[in-house]
Amino acid sequence: MSDILNVPEIFGSDVFNEATMQQRLRSDTYRAWKDCIATGSQLPLDVANDIAEGMKIWATEKGATHYTHWFQPMTGITAEKHDSFISPTGDGRVIMEFSGKELVRGEPDASSFPSGGLRATFEARGYTAWDPTACAFVKDGSLYIPTCFFSYTGESLDKKTPLLRSIEEVSREAVRILRLFGDMETRRVVCSVGAEQEYFLLPKDLYAQREDLRLTGRTLFGAQPPKGQELDDHYFGTIRTRVSSFMKDLDEQLWRLGILSKTKHNEGAPCQHELAPIYTNANTACDDNQLIMMIMKKCAAKHNLVCLLHEKPFAGVNGSGKHNNWSLATDSGKNLFSPGKTPSQNAQFLVFLAAFIQGIDEYQDFLRCTVASAGNDHRLGGGEAPPAIVSIFLGDELDGVVRSIIDGTNYTEPAKSLLRIGVDVLPAIPKDTTDRNRTSPLAFTGNKFEFRMLGSSQSIAGPNIALNTIMAEELGRFADALEKAENFDEALQKLVCQALTDHSRIIFSGNGYSDAWKEEAARRGLSNLSSTAEALPAYVCDKNVELVTRHGIFTENEFRARHTIHLEAYNKIVNIEARTMVDMAVHQILPAALHYTRTLCDSVAGKERLGAPCRAETTLIRSLSYHTDALYDAVEALKKALSILPKADPETLAAKYHNRVIPAMQALRAEADILEELTDKSYWPYPTYSDLLFY
Ligand code: ADP
Ligand code: MG
Repeated sequence: MSDILNVPEIFGSDVFNEATMQQRLRSDTYRAWKDCIATGSQLPLDVANDIAEGMKIWATEKGATHYTHWFQPMTGITAEKHDSFISPTGDGRVIMEFSGKELVRGEPDASSFPSGGLRATFEARGYTAWDPTACAFVKDGSLYIPTCFFSYTGESLDKKTPLLRSIEEVSREAVRILRLFGDMETRRVVCSVGAEQEYFLLPKDLYAQREDLRLTGRTLFGAQPPKGQELDDHYFGTIRTRVSSFMKDLDEQLWRLGILSKTKHNEGAPCQHELAPIYTNANTACDDNQLIMMIMKKCAAKHNLVCLLHEKPFAGVNGSGKHNNWSLATDSGKNLFSPGKTPSQNAQFLVFLAAFIQGIDEYQDFLRCTVASAGNDHRLGGGEAPPAIVSIFLGDELDGVVRSIIDGTNYTEPAKSLLRIGVDVLPAIPKDTTDRNRTSPLAFTGNKFEFRMLGSSQSIAGPNIALNTIMAEELGRFADALEKAENFDEALQKLVCQALTDHSRIIFSGNGYSDAWKEEAARRGLSNLSSTAEALPAYVCDKNVELVTRHGIFTENEFRARHTIHLEAYNKIVNIEARTMVDMAVHQILPAALHYTRTLCDSVAGKERLGAPCRAETTLIRSLSYHTDALYDAVEALKKALSILPKADPETLAAKYHNRVIPAMQALRAEADILEELTDKSYWPYPTYSDLLFY
């Protein structure tokens, strides 16, 4: 019976969480820490020293010998550098030491993380600072301390700092609105996030045989297998034994780290799965999602599997995304996107809803840009993931409410037909019971918005920074208007009605995958930024720069640096993929096709001596020869496309990669995939889609 897992007992056992702190720290230290969290003030050094000592004792009892400042540079993944606790005593022995100074501040030699020009080489140092609102934990023999990462000049070089800033901003503006509705208790508004993570699992031995998977995380070649996902026999299907033992192991590791892993199931594509945790505050959710991705990879290796987090590992089968469920709640846990039971609660709900709708419409391009990447370009608009056009799905009931508020303004007899929003008159809003629209990029699902455009490998920080900042902006504007109003009810009515009327174009309930929607969206003036190269220039438009700087989320330099980094990442990824294709085509595909052709030619020669018919061989030889020539030409064309890339700014270069290199890659792949279909399998140099997906 010893292998029965006592989940409540192990849950969070590797985390220096609040309960552990309370238990392990002196009560005045614990209280000082709590105060700092509540007020956002700096921790006095003596308190930091006490916490560091408590952490060290706890961590070494858990087997830790090292500590690391864990941070989230702009690569989208996390980084760590480990220092041991040892300190010499002068007589050849050591003791384990960890000071408050080491806890709160680090100085990793981090000159090779992308900085988008924020950091010149002469001031290459980056600094890390403890984020006391996130919990430290022990993993693989090290004490992990979540930190922010910034430059010598104090500019943020990471994803955590702007996220924390955006969490503060939206809280501040939301509290202003709550005060107007008579809520005097709420001190903070919390941003809640639940991120559903999709991923693929492949057998390690097959993965190892494919250079494209190893170098780029996706297949760059591969003919379609005879069977795809058309039978829908994988979605929610029985989980393979190897996979379920992986999932069991994964859950245990995540639970030990206090991560609320809740749901696991097979996804639509063969070999595709999903993990959903229970939602938590945005900062923790972001840390947790990074840990989930990291531990998925490590844990898969232990089970002789490889976890692919790429957005589109296989052409022709569903890609992987990440659904970011987002809402706002008071510090006492009241969800602000929950339609209430009383007219007054509903009026408040409608203010938040109207602010959201107005903000998403005004800043649709900003939100779109936060999920622009080379990998995600294969999904958005690909007819399986949401389109690249941002729109909001509200569901029938809420749609009806919004419509009647908008229409009401046009009626001549307001008293009779106007749906009034004033705090005493609005009728109860029924809870939505309609089916959710899976094609919508941003769906209201009862008490939260589900943002579905995120790619599976991306950090969830980007879109949550955008959602919080956009929301802070609109709530702030609403609060400005309402605080000044002489008649609150009237001002409220006007404000909500105006916002919904002006921005209803962003609301869409139909099929987001259809061409008709593309046309309709264009008529509505919605932006359709269908690729990273097209999207990113819009990221740094004046309106967005003003938004993020006004709220202190980014300085203009920090914001522009991110734009550069995203473009550079895109350019590098496409470049690596293109060069990998050339390499595989020249060194693997072409030789395999030629080798098989020679065998066929030998056969023809032998048969001709006997006068035996050889129509099969000669037909195949002709096809193979035609397509090997075409492959050769396609390789040359791709090499040429790469060689004439100008030395230009990253934005110009991205356009060239998009317009010249990617089409040449697609042409090369088409020829290679035809050759795969013509060639004897025993000659083919790497596992096919059938091998990989139906092992
Ligand atoms: P699905 O979208 O697959 O139907 P659910 O609606 O149950 O699944 O929830 C998906 C995710 O949304 C889960 O991570 C869940 O914890 C999270 N979630 C639920 N309520 C909220 C909320 N108020 N704010 C943010 N996330 C939430
Ligand atoms: Mg979902």
